[in-house]
Amino acid sequence: MRKIDLFDTTLRDGEQSAGINLNTVEKLEIARQLEKLGVAVIEAGFPASSPGDFEAVQRIANTVKNSTVTGLARAMKNDIDISWEALRGGEQPHIHVFLATSPIHMEYKLKKSPDEVVDIAVDAVKYAKQYFPLVQWSAEDAFRSDKEYLVRIINKVIEAGATTINVPDTVGYATPAEYGALFKYLKENVRGVEKVKLSAHCHDDLGMAVANSIAAVENGADQVECTINGIGERAGNAALEEIAVAMHIRKDFYNMETGINLKEIKKASQLVSRLTGVVIQPNKAVVGKNAFAHESGIHQDGMLKNRETYEIITPELIGETDIPLALGKHSGRAAFKDRAMTMGFELTDQQLNEAFDDFKKLADRKKEITEDDLFVLFTGQQLADTDTPIYELHNVQVQYGTNNIPTATVTATVPSGETVTVATTGAGSVESIFNALELAIKGEVLILDYRVTSIGKGRDALGEAVVNLRHNGLELTGRDVAQDVLEASAKAYLNAINRQLVREQLRKEELMK
Ligand SMILES: [Zn+2]
Repeated sequence: MRKIDLFDTTLRDGEQSAGINLNTVEKLEIARQLEKLGVAVIEAGFPASSPGDFEAVQRIANTVKNSTVTGLARAMKNDIDISWEALRGGEQPHIHVFLATSPIHMEYKLKKSPDEVVDIAVDAVKYAKQYFPLVQWSAEDAFRSDKEYLVRIINKVIEAGATTINVPDTVGYATPAEYGALFKYLKENVRGVEKVKLSAHCHDDLGMAVANSIAAVENGADQVECTINGIGERAGNAALEEIAVAMHIRKDFYNMETGINLKEIKKASQLVSRLTGVVIQPNKAVVGKNAFAHESGIHQDGMLKNRETYEIITPELIGETDIPLALGKHSGRAAFKDRAMTMGFELTDQQLNEAFDDFKKLADRKKEITEDDLFVLFTGQQLADTDTPIYELHNVQVQYGTNNIPTATVTATVPSGETVTVATTGAGSVESIFNALELAIKGEVLILDYRVTSIGKGRDALGEAVVNLRHNGLELTGRDVAQDVLEASAKAYLNAINRQLVREQLRKEELMK
């Protein structure tokens, strides 16, 4: 069977999408899960773009052992130098250098002639090759580039030492037949193509990212770039889980394997959704909430007689299990620890103790603890706190009546260490809380989006709030979980503001170096 490498760019192309801002600990958590999932390459970020990205890429490169870790760089010496500092600790240092090759990008964005672009690309690859054993070069907007020009520039960068050539459909314009034909053309015309990996990178603007990626693979691509849940710029990237499961379920047809540990898919999908705040549509292939729900009577009847009448993928395949928890109010620490390990969490004794305390508190208030609840408790512990002084909520109280003006009182510790109490009104309970918090932080905050969802089922389910806001010119996403949605909302709001504080702290430390 042919082996296809999956190159995951959730932490670079995915993180780049509107409203997503992950901190280093969250990125590391996702990277660990991607390693368990068995992706060949993890693109951890764009080291030269910010100190935060640099730090995250460096920590991931130094931690992950079983996947190759890469970072994105423009075709510039400075970007490549910074990337080397971030990635040198990796098992197999790999860099991803890109330069646009389409007429529109060369003329208007780069303001360079095609000949100049060839020279810049060759110089960048040669320069990167001094440090990195693995150099991937991307022809940005390759699909809208002139084919003969593509062959010419790829010939040159292979001579210069590139080990992977990525041919992206940057704007999501290709159809499967055309994109496949482009790979066939390159396979037939590029000199030394057998020495390098050819890579596909597709965007979903016309809903064809997965189909285009598979067409590329059928025509000679050795690597597919994709993201968990298909998140990414604009309409997103090709969804990793769809490609991996399609290759597995239809291996009779494709005769290819991806090396992905399918049982880790559900967990990866949930983790990315929770940490990015990007909700998965219920009918999403493979990982949607309804992907395995059979509604119609005829279908249900068929399923009862033989599951295979309507089921081509089982929930178990992607690690969705229905095993009852058998954990409750009276469960002991050992059973709790055992469960954490079965679910794949590696917690220190102290983290485990804190999670256990939270679990006991939750079990007092909630009849049935679900696996989703535990997932929240364990990830909460794994995302350890920072040393930066931040805002901390102590108490939130709301007075609401159908005929009254809602009033919120908030008590919180501010970064200077003092505790403040503020009260104010709003048109609704949530607005009054947000108004009070705005007074507490003494800043101007614009709420861009706000969402509350329940975790799991039942009337006593935990509430998760996601707040997307603009503060000091930055767009930030905060999230938090509580048994009461008003408390979760207040904590999510402060979580967004705290992310900015942590980021500023990192920038200051960087300047002092
Ligand atoms: Zn992209």
